[in-house]
Amino acid sequence: MSPHQNASATPSQTALCEPCAGIQRNWRRAPGHAELVQGSPRKVEIQGRTVTVTRYRCDRCGSTWDYENNSANQRAGWSLVSR
Ligand SMILES: [Zn+2]
Repeated sequence: MSPHQNASATPSQTALCEPCAGIQRNWRRAPGHAELVQGSPRKVEIQGRTVTVTRYRCDRCGSTWDYENNSANQRAGWSLVSR
């Protein structure tokens, strides 16, 4: 047993591929990237207004994204779905 073992050296976050890491989050109309595979859109009610949220999955790194299309919220847009 080494007294120098350090468990905190292990990265805890899932690594995003380069195009995913470049997605601007929480900004309306920010573009995704070419390797995102679109899933089925769903209607979600947010603050009394129905918005469309579309699920995407990255073909390269397997990350799951939601894109919220909400014209009333400039901060809506891409968000990473935690696994
Ligand atoms: Zn990716």
